[in-house]
Amino acid sequence: MSKYDVAVIGSGPGGYVAAIRCAQLGMKTAIIEKYHSLGGTCLNVGCIPSKALLDSSHHYDDAMKHFEEHGIEIPGEIKINFEKMIARKKQVVDTTCDGVQYLMKKNEIDVFTGMGSFVDATHIKIDGEKSETIEAANTIIATGSKPGSLPFITLDKERVITSTEALSLKEIPKHLIVIGGGVIGLELGQVYKRLGAEVTVIEYMDRITPAMDKTLSKELMKVLKKQQVKFHLSHAVNKVERNGDAVKVTAKNKKGEDVVFEGDYCLVAVGRRPYTDQLNATAAGVKINERGQVEVNEQMQTNVPNIYAVGDVVRGIMLAHKAEEEGVFVAEVLAGQQPHINYNLIPNVVYTWPEVASVGKTEEELIAAGIAFKAGSFPMRALGRSRASGDVDGLVKILADTTTDEVLGVHIIGARAADLIAEAVTAMEFRASAEDIARMSHAHPTYAEAVKEAALAATADRALHV
Ligand code: FAD
Ligand code: NAD
Repeated sequence: MSKYDVAVIGSGPGGYVAAIRCAQLGMKTAIIEKYHSLGGTCLNVGCIPSKALLDSSHHYDDAMKHFEEHGIEIPGEIKINFEKMIARKKQVVDTTCDGVQYLMKKNEIDVFTGMGSFVDATHIKIDGEKSETIEAANTIIATGSKPGSLPFITLDKERVITSTEALSLKEIPKHLIVIGGGVIGLELGQVYKRLGAEVTVIEYMDRITPAMDKTLSKELMKVLKKQQVKFHLSHAVNKVERNGDAVKVTAKNKKGEDVVFEGDYCLVAVGRRPYTDQLNATAAGVKINERGQVEVNEQMQTNVPNIYAVGDVVRGIMLAHKAEEEGVFVAEVLAGQQPHINYNLIPNVVYTWPEVASVGKTEEELIAAGIAFKAGSFPMRALGRSRASGDVDGLVKILADTTTDEVLGVHIIGARAADLIAEAVTAMEFRASAEDIARMSHAHPTYAEAVKEAALAATADRALHV
């Protein structure tokens, strides 16, 4: 029987990064993945394929709507070859997943393909093409998450679908009904809207992306409405029916009336659930809490001392970079180090266009906590860079402590917000004041100038270009 210092179950961003860091720190490491392709949800059916389709559909949208204003004329009709778009997405995924395979080899990590399940706290059975058992002094559970649903919905995965199927459709829907105005619903909704589908988003709460700062939710909805995405807020879906190629979704509005939506596809995007289904955690004595998460302490350690867990399968926001931080954290704990994760500074991004990105506290959270703050905003349309590219929608909002001027939250909607947020994370990690950011030189012309201007506005209402 092969023996390891560490076995990692699951090869998503939490698992494969944990494995690499363990190997870097000199531990004999194995990784177990049920699929042949490494990389987990993120690389196979999450972050990477969704961004590939967002980028492809963005190019099409630009060609259809914006080339002309730049003086670019395309003789003949611009057409979508959807099969090719999906094939390109697959190629991007395959190349990225092969990269993980390469990294495992480079770091001398043994890869086992098959479903991993605990025999006891130090033995894991792997059921793949053959069945084998390995021994591990320590195990890291990184089994991730699966799409969630609602109790009354039958996901037939043809017409009533999750994000996984939405990333590999055979045709562009005529009318895509999206249940859930969260990040998946909006990203994939925008993909199909750009490709010509009618898109209707039904959201239970009174705003989209409910966890984000309200200013961003409002601004994003305004922009998406301009792009003809339809929204029905404060609607609770209570029935989804399929009849041949048609789907019918019924939701209760605020007045308690049933509202019926008819389309040809329904994307269910109401959150994801931790995945431990076939792990046999009880055989190792590992506690799963009432939310289905593997329960961990501050060291990411389960109730069984030699078993740890990271990523979507534990508490906290379900993001690839959060999973990665936790993967590195556990490896360093196992090596006797004292690592640290600043959960307040895990940035959150929605890859619509304009992109939405935020870090730190929202205005609503600061109000609820009774923290006195000042807010400074700057509109993207006031930037020379935005006018040059034509990306004028959006704004940057900076929240700073009234007394100390320390930056407490940065909220951005606009072109390349996903990249701009890194400056805010860096500044906040070093506990910068709004004035610190305001006094740093930002290259001209860039979108980043909006961050400087919002910081000037937060410092003492002294933005220069509004
Ligand atoms: P996962 O990536 O889910 O990996 C878990 C792996 O474990 C899987 O490969 C699974 O097959 C394997 N596994 C499970 N059980 C077993 C077992 N018993 N034996 C063997 N193997 C097992 N996050 C971002 O930060 N940015 C984005 O842009 C983004 N976009 C997304 C888009 C979509 C459509 C979706 C669905 C998610 C997106 N996410 C994004 C979220 C991100 O994918 C997850 O937060 C991330 O993948 C979590 O990583 P993980 O390692 O915890 O788990
Ligand atoms: P989400 O939590 O972002 O959004 C789900 C939405 O569905 C919420 O707004 C919720 O109020 C709504 N909802 C719940 N029940 C409903 C009902 N009965 N009727 C109508 N609306 C209802 O979840 P998601 O969009 O499914 O994404 C899952 C996770 O994947 C996210 O939490 C995120 O962490 C991750 N993800 C991240 C990215 C990214 O980082 N860009 C992209 C995709 C997914």
